[in-house]
Amino acid sequence: MHNKFDLTGKKVLITGGGKGLGFAIANTMAHHGAKVIITGRNELQLKEACGNIGTSCAYHVFDLTDIKAIPLFVEAVINKHGHIDVLVNNAGINMKKDILEVTDEDFESVIKTNQSAVFSLSREFAKRMVQRKNGVILLISSMASQYGIPKVIAYTASKSAIEGMTRAMAVELSPLGIRVNCIAPGFIETDMSSKALNSDPDRKQKVLSRTPMAKLGKPDDIGYAAAFLAGDAANYITGIVLPVDGGNAIGF
Ligand code: NDP
Repeated sequence: MHNKFDLTGKKVLITGGGKGLGFAIANTMAHHGAKVIITGRNELQLKEACGNIGTSCAYHVFDLTDIKAIPLFVEAVINKHGHIDVLVNNAGINMKKDILEVTDEDFESVIKTNQSAVFSLSREFAKRMVQRKNGVILLISSMASQYGIPKVIAYTASKSAIEGMTRAMAVELSPLGIRVNCIAPGFIETDMSSKALNSDPDRKQKVLSRTPMAKLGKPDDIGYAAAFLAGDAANYITGIVLPVDGGNAIGF
């Protein structure tokens, strides 16, 4: 019987795959047979990540805030690697600041990386996936779109848009053979969460006290969820937001 959890033969592009959750997603998928292409701005980090993952990993340096260049970037990736089966929109930035201190420029810069780039990249890959009537697009939201978290207004706006775009893309693209799903990570040990939590013990305590499993998650926890949603085992799943959060979203 075909193992539907196996990703052999699938090509996956993961934005921000050089570290944190993106690296864990790339590494997990590669271990399940996928060929992975990771992107980011930091070439050294991408090179090192590929070295750790092995020969099934390639990288492209690209800054997602260069929105106008996204169609050319997608063309270059496809010219080099052939069609892409799975797009993982993982790259993102956070900004922790009191709401009254957030400038329009601050707000715009988070929206650009976390929302506008995700839309443009998804649209460009979807155009190609539609031709093959096959593809998977994954997005990454956050607990910031499940309930109110102070000091992250722009991040919350962008991640709430991600969940809305997941549903909007799923209804238009699923009839054309493309599944679109979202993972909502809870608080996972990465540079991003360390920055937000380690300098703020009260915030960290608050997170842990409302997480029924009483611990932070590991990047691999997200990697496994993404590998499942990317593969044939999830063939009848589209338009969902899957919390991977130790119960944080339903915690008291
Ligand atoms: P990290 O800060 O560890 O990594 C972020 C990644 O995004 C890096 O690889 C970075 O690569 C890439 N990136 C950022 N800006 C750009 C850009 N302009 N162009 C290309 N790549 C970019 O974050 P995490 O791994 O923690 O987060 C990954 C995703 O998961 C994000 O979308 C985040 O919002 C989400 N998330 C994380 C949670 C957590 O607890 N860690 C919780 C909920 C959601 P480079 O610097 O090389 O450009």
